[in-house]
Amino acid sequence: MEFIKEELTSLKQYGIYRDLKTMVESQAPRTMVNGKKCILLSSNNYLGLTEHPDLITAARNAISIWGTGAGGSRLISGNFRIHEELEETIAHFKNTESAIVFNSGYMANMGTITALAGKEDIIFSDELNHASIIDGCRLSRAKTRIYPHKNTGVLEKLLQKSTGYRRRLIVTDGVFSMDGDLAPLPRLVDLAEKYNAVLMVDDAHATGVLGRRGAGSAEHFGLEGKITIQMGTLSKAIGSTGGYVAGSHDLINYLRNKARSFIFSTALPPSVIATGLEAFRVLQKYPRIRENLHNNAFYLRTGLTQMGFTILSEESPIIPVLIGDANKTIQMAQLLFSLGVFTPGIRPPTVPPGTSRVRVTVMATHTREELDTALHAFAQAGQTLGVI
Ligand SMILES: *Cc1c(COP(=O)(O)O)cnc(C)c1O
Repeated sequence: MEFIKEELTSLKQYGIYRDLKTMVESQAPRTMVNGKKCILLSSNNYLGLTEHPDLITAARNAISIWGTGAGGSRLISGNFRIHEELEETIAHFKNTESAIVFNSGYMANMGTITALAGKEDIIFSDELNHASIIDGCRLSRAKTRIYPHKNTGVLEKLLQKSTGYRRRLIVTDGVFSMDGDLAPLPRLVDLAEKYNAVLMVDDAHATGVLGRRGAGSAEHFGLEGKITIQMGTLSKAIGSTGGYVAGSHDLINYLRNKARSFIFSTALPPSVIATGLEAFRVLQKYPRIRENLHNNAFYLRTGLTQMGFTILSEESPIIPVLIGDANKTIQMAQLLFSLGVFTPGIRPPTVPPGTSRVRVTVMATHTREELDTALHAFAQAGQTLGVI
């Protein structure tokens, strides 16, 4: 076991050793991180739904009716009526024929990609795609071609060159998690059609966030019905846990039969499912929550830009504040934390050298006063470190 010690030492030497932050309160705009009260600007709980009274009630009721665990996998004895109800709701929300719920977004990507592609197939994957897509591609053993971020010109050349494969899959994040920018979906839809490829979009950060009803990037671009496989998660804006894939009846029946991460894992507890189900009701009933999210994102972005910070993208509630140098980025995050703002510094190898950033995410439930306090801390930290 000497190698474990050596590896840990080397991680620490390179400054890439990770440790856990401890939360003892809810995922709220103001919360306690490592024993310090601060404004939370790093949560994926975009709509604040993890604290919504309707979701809490739904979870409580579900526990009192069905107990705590599902007790079996979906295909054996863990498939409750409420699982089906959630899947019907997601299909309706996404405007597709059908949907399937996995235990997490990670498992949805792993299960779906490995079910669709094998040794005889080729996958085209954006270089900034989420780790769960990368792992799905690797496990599938399909030939994988990585194209430069959002570069549809290079993608087209790769599509032209790659002949002799059984199936072709193009896979992309809808909203990229570290950069907050959007995939060029209209062009990807065209390319998929032209070169006879299947298009899969990961809407983890878009579900509940983008589009007129919050249905995601297809709705945002007016491409409903054009994207064969729409994947997403219930663990971010939806405020629960679980991943989903929405698409045709055939696709969903196929995944139920072929996706190993769906087949060989115990179903999510009915309370978790009930929470997700309630979230879709809340989303529809209170459109103001989503409006608040976008207003807050706009407010924070505008404030930061006016102070002289460089924001890498302006398309989503993910606000990457460019610092550049890796060490300075970590100092910035530490200084912000000491000033009562929690937002992580992101540096290589997660992002390319020279593009280290503080990754801010905003929630619908942040008050203007909280955002002003955060902006004030940014100004102070930015000036102290000579970033602005
Ligand atoms: C978070 C995320 C996932 C994984 O979803 P979980 O439900 O957290 O497992 C997948 N893809 C992207 C782009 C993500 O940001």
